[in-house]
Amino acid sequence: MKKRIVIIGGGFGGVYTAKHLARHASRNLEIILISERNYFLFTPLLHEVATGSLSPTSVTEPLREIFRKGGVKIKIGRVSEINKDDGFVILDAEQIKFDYLVIATGAKMNDFGLPGVLENTIGLKSLEDAIEIRKKVIEIYERELTEALNRKEKLLNLVIIGGGPTGVELAAELDDFVSEIENDYKKSKRSSLRTKIYLINSADELLVQFPKSLRDEARRVLEKKRIGILNNFYVSKVEKGKIFNREDEEIRADLIVWTAGVMPNTKNGQRVLTNEKLQVLGYENIFAMGDMGNISKLTNPLPMLAQVAVAEAPVVANNILALINKKPLRDFNYQSKGLLVSLGKFKAVGQISGITVTGFLAWFIWRTIYLFKFNSWKKRFRIMFEWTISLFSPRDITQVK
Ligand SMILES: Cc1cc2nc3c(=O)[nH]c(=O)nc-3n(C[C@H](O)[C@H](O)[C@H](O)COP(=O)(O)OP(=O)(O)OC[C@H]3O[C@@H](n4cnc5c(N)ncnc54)[C@H](O)[C@@H]3O)c2cc1C
Repeated sequence: MKKRIVIIGGGFGGVYTAKHLARHASRNLEIILISERNYFLFTPLLHEVATGSLSPTSVTEPLREIFRKGGVKIKIGRVSEINKDDGFVILDAEQIKFDYLVIATGAKMNDFGLPGVLENTIGLKSLEDAIEIRKKVIEIYERELTEALNRKEKLLNLVIIGGGPTGVELAAELDDFVSEIENDYKKSKRSSLRTKIYLINSADELLVQFPKSLRDEARRVLEKKRIGILNNFYVSKVEKGKIFNREDEEIRADLIVWTAGVMPNTKNGQRVLTNEKLQVLGYENIFAMGDMGNISKLTNPLPMLAQVAVAEAPVVANNILALINKKPLRDFNYQSKGLLVSLGKFKAVGQISGITVTGFLAWFIWRTIYLFKFNSWKKRFRIMFEWTISLFSPRDITQVK
């Protein structure tokens, strides 16, 4: 009898699972991938879109193109309900029954309930966020030239809240971006504007998940730029253009980006617990993976990383096929492949298989690894082309509305 596998989520977990399953596509297997958007988003390079070194569609791959060879049906829309006991999901007004379900709905921005964060900051989770950041930065400079010649305050403050890899990468690239656009505006000789970038961090160091030597190296590189690192700064609220800490100290900001946390994309904001085979507890035929799933027995939760979701995908696909074919299921054992953080042009820090890398070598490895994570050669060539151009020419400052 034909079995239907429904996958919710067109991100790292969902797409890679569908790719593994598609290799076993047969007349007896129907694979449906449901996604809110019609493209796969390569989040590790979002900060480059936000800072003008990559164009928005360079970090996306249309789902229909990824599954051009067939074997996977794509449905675009947001699943509003999952009925685990009766085996169906609701997509718009449609009820879709499943024999096996994979939930890979990822994570969303976490404001930790702090007042004003959602209204007054931009996240860096979606393509729209990245486009918005880039637009806002360019807008700030345009405004300065056209209307703010009388402005007393000649210091622009661009603030990033969150001292993890996303905040650090964005801060470093933002500094490069701003240096390039300042050159263009200063040529008009009408602006005496100066820019300061602040990186706000609640911990006492940046990149807490990295070894000490790499944390120190990252701090050294950032401090050489115009980035002010504010450690032990607990944001208590955000107002329009202002950030407050617990001591009620205030920082004025022309741009505020929130990279301080994410939470699972589930109704209660908690990760869905699974066994080691990635089956949701109590449901043999339902799997949860990626940012929204976690193995209940682990003392340390699985990190919310693309590399975890990608590593889980073959296990989920294998275990669904094993259930269908009445074979034994596999456990998921996570082995980190390493960590890499870019620090702007030609600089990065990282640890790969226990070996520490810094500087140009780390930057080169970082770029090469990410390039090969794309599904198609078309995108790899396009990104290589855009990176090469950006080495020799300034970034594009076209203000897209
Ligand atoms: C800026 C940034 C940089 C990052 N850099 C790195 C990095 O360098 N290395 C690394 O390993 N990880 C990185 N990550 C983390 C990585 O993006 C996530 O861990 C990874 O995307 C998790 O995969 P996922 O499949 O769980 O979720 P996602 O890839 O987020 O996919 C979830 C999908 O589900 C869809 N969806 C959600 N709800 C519904 C619904 N109700 N109905 C239909 N569809 C739905 C979403 O639209 C999305 O397409 C980064 C994340 C960000 C934001």
